[in-house]
Amino acid sequence: MHKIQAFDDCVSELSRLPGIGPKTASRLAMHLLKMKPEDVRRLSEHLIAFKEKTVSCNICGGISENDVCPICRDSYRNTGILCVVEEAKDLFVIEQTGYFKGRYHVLGGKISPLDGVGPDNLRIANLADRIVQENIGEVIIATNPDVDGETTAAYLIRIMKKYPKLKITKLASGIAIGTHIEYADEITVVRALEGRREIC
Ligand SMILES: [Zn+2]
Repeated sequence: MHKIQAFDDCVSELSRLPGIGPKTASRLAMHLLKMKPEDVRRLSEHLIAFKEKTVSCNICGGISENDVCPICRDSYRNTGILCVVEEAKDLFVIEQTGYFKGRYHVLGGKISPLDGVGPDNLRIANLADRIVQENIGEVIIATNPDVDGETTAAYLIRIMKKYPKLKITKLASGIAIGTHIEYADEITVVRALEGRREIC
């Protein structure tokens, strides 16, 4: 078959994105070809700007355009409650429900011995600092319900039991029976938050 290098390069780059196989990548590449040149340019400019202007919030570790994200800056949020998630994408899903009015703490991954990720590679020490400095009353553990997520939750519970006044809760129902937060619908996320149970 006749080889078109620019097409192959485009498909190969798109295929590197999560959830996009070679077939979808080819379809997207063909779609890009049909788009107006100015629309393709705008798309590529937005992709570059998104990457270059986005940083991690110094407080929660979520994504931000400034040192401190809008959620951490928002004085109307409940400052006594933290929802601990693995990744910024989980924060995004919970935030979209509009149900949770506290603030977040993004760990930046989960404990995974097979991948060489230990507690020191995550933002766990920062979490302990925040519990004290921000006078946190409740921590909701919202790690994912897989082996590494549960290992991480168990580790966090062990660390947080050192704070006698701290209420430690964990997501319930839908999330707890096997759905990753990333793929959960809004109702499932809200039910999991509402039904969170206290760890004793
Ligand atoms: Zn933040």
